[in-house]
Amino acid sequence: MTTPLALDILAIAAHRDDVEQTCGGTLLSAEDRAREAAAAAKILKASWRSALDIPDARVENTWENRLKIAHVIRDQRPKVVILPYWQGRHPDHYTTSILGYEACFLVGLSKLDLPGAPHRPFKIVYATLYYDIRPTFVVDITEQFEQRLNSLYAYESQFTDQEAGSKDFPARAEIRGRIEAMARFYGMLAGVKYAEPFLQKEIGLVDDLTLIPVKSL
Ligand SMILES: [Zn+2]
Repeated sequence: MTTPLALDILAIAAHRDDVEQTCGGTLLSAEDRAREAAAAAKILKASWRSALDIPDARVENTWENRLKIAHVIRDQRPKVVILPYWQGRHPDHYTTSILGYEACFLVGLSKLDLPGAPHRPFKIVYATLYYDIRPTFVVDITEQFEQRLNSLYAYESQFTDQEAGSKDFPARAEIRGRIEAMARFYGMLAGVKYAEPFLQKEIGLVDDLTLIPVKSL
């Protein structure tokens, strides 16, 4: 199954709601920009989603799993890949980070026995929301915040289950409180209302000093 259009951004995560939780606003923001550019096909591509057959709490960095992800990358040909940060409490998160990175490398090899042409994403960035580390940049999701929140309400039961004895607590208020606190914090660091944090391993490159965003004083 090959698709003619390249995906702008592909987010790879360990669990179903991880994308909504760590970089949902960023994906919505990219979608909005694509819409502004009137590239209808791109909008559809931004909503592509798939769950790989890798069981919960058993994400392992194996050849088979690397190939499963490599297959998706050859199919979707993303320019940017978002991975979970490479440290964390849940082993699935940090394992997915390494697994995703190695799959991105693998997929560029022409000798790889997979359908489709070799492809390597131009950029890999790491979603750091689950881990307390200073991000290298944040994405402004002020415009997308409410929509991102709505996408999370779909996972209400998961939130409630995580909190022992929280059955009486209104799940939505709890979700909103948590998500808003984090988004406000990262937004505040960059002088916007809401933002999502990311880390890149590469150095930043600047063309024009007068155009660097986020004021110092
Ligand atoms: Zn997770």
